[in-house]
Amino acid sequence: MKELLIRNGRVIDPAAGRDEIADVFVRSDTIVAVGRNLDAAGARVYDATGLVVAPGFIDMHVHLREPGFEHSETIESGARAAAAGGFTSICCMPNTSPVNDNATVTRYIVDRANQNALVNVFPIGAITKDSAGEELAAIGSMRAAGAVAISDDGRPVMNARVMRRAMELARSFDFPVINHCEDLHLSAGGDMHEGVQSVKLGLRGIPGASEDVMVARDIILAELTGSAYHVAHISSRHSVAIVAFAKKRGLPVTSEATPHHFALTDADIAPYDSNYKMKPPLRDRCDAAAVIEGLASGAIDAIATDHAPHPGSEKMQEFERCPFGIIGLETAIGLALEYLVHPGKITLPRMVELFTAGPARILKLNRGTLASGASADLTIFDTERTWTYDVNKSASKSRNSPFHGRRFRGGAVATVVDGAFVWQAAEQA
Ligand SMILES: [Zn+2]
Repeated sequence: MKELLIRNGRVIDPAAGRDEIADVFVRSDTIVAVGRNLDAAGARVYDATGLVVAPGFIDMHVHLREPGFEHSETIESGARAAAAGGFTSICCMPNTSPVNDNATVTRYIVDRANQNALVNVFPIGAITKDSAGEELAAIGSMRAAGAVAISDDGRPVMNARVMRRAMELARSFDFPVINHCEDLHLSAGGDMHEGVQSVKLGLRGIPGASEDVMVARDIILAELTGSAYHVAHISSRHSVAIVAFAKKRGLPVTSEATPHHFALTDADIAPYDSNYKMKPPLRDRCDAAAVIEGLASGAIDAIATDHAPHPGSEKMQEFERCPFGIIGLETAIGLALEYLVHPGKITLPRMVELFTAGPARILKLNRGTLASGASADLTIFDTERTWTYDVNKSASKSRNSPFHGRRFRGGAVATVVDGAFVWQAAEQA
């Protein structure tokens, strides 16, 4: 049987409270042991001296565009970008064509991923049919087919009665409802965050309140129904405060933040550059600071990229016309180190937790730890390696990133899925 010994790395496994120099021993696709000076006889040895060895990183918010928009991304290309970013598991949102609102589409994604994906792919089913916000989707059968949560991401569930029913069902199937929180009446016509910068650029604004009112509504419904509820890509200071309040009340409420929402603000927008257009929009300095504070305090449970590929033909239009969203899988670790860990806002183990045990807990995934018997998914990264992001070399089929050309301090070095190296940084390979 294939054996692998990853020697002498700084092993950080927040789920087990571990942070020490140690070896990790893998047999076939399973973690066998973590400890000092493990016996390597016969095993392939990987020297991780000076590197961090962590449970495989999980990105719980990714758009893979297959089926339907394979010119933007496929399950295969998105998974390759994930591996290159240090992710071993990704969860794909249902806004494909057709929408993943029934078990046939869910099974199609699971099958395609089994055939073509370098990393684990967990589908998220739609809340409503066609994500139109009216009739509930086939939630139970999607759950049985492998969906790990439900969401109409990209579109909010505007009807509170529909949301209540969805939560009641999600509770009975024991998985969370994830909402893209945006009151469409308040955000209507907006292209960027509403504030001083939108006035300066003459663009229509999306107020923070459009997010806040829906987060508040959903939390009231989560208390009513007892459902696990998760806020996608939280971006505003009040939303972070409302989630913190819900957690204090003991409600099963969680949230995630994207790297771009803690790394950038509306003042960083290169005027009319569509690579800075996303939903929720880049908000102001106080909002970004609140997101960072939430990541530190526990109001925010996970970092997720909201990787949203769009081809140049669609993205390269006037700011007002181009679609929302940026790719993010390959820059997430670099941004988290640069904006959270290097400046001392959070510790390195907390960063690892936000990428591993955090999302695993929310989705009840049997991942995110290096406990013996766990799947041998590992992310090996270097907190100091300097490298430059060239989006033209991205494994993604799309190029819509505001971080092209950026020099990073720290990034992924190797990605191991089920005991096999699926990606290694060029100089390490
Ligand atoms: Zn969204």
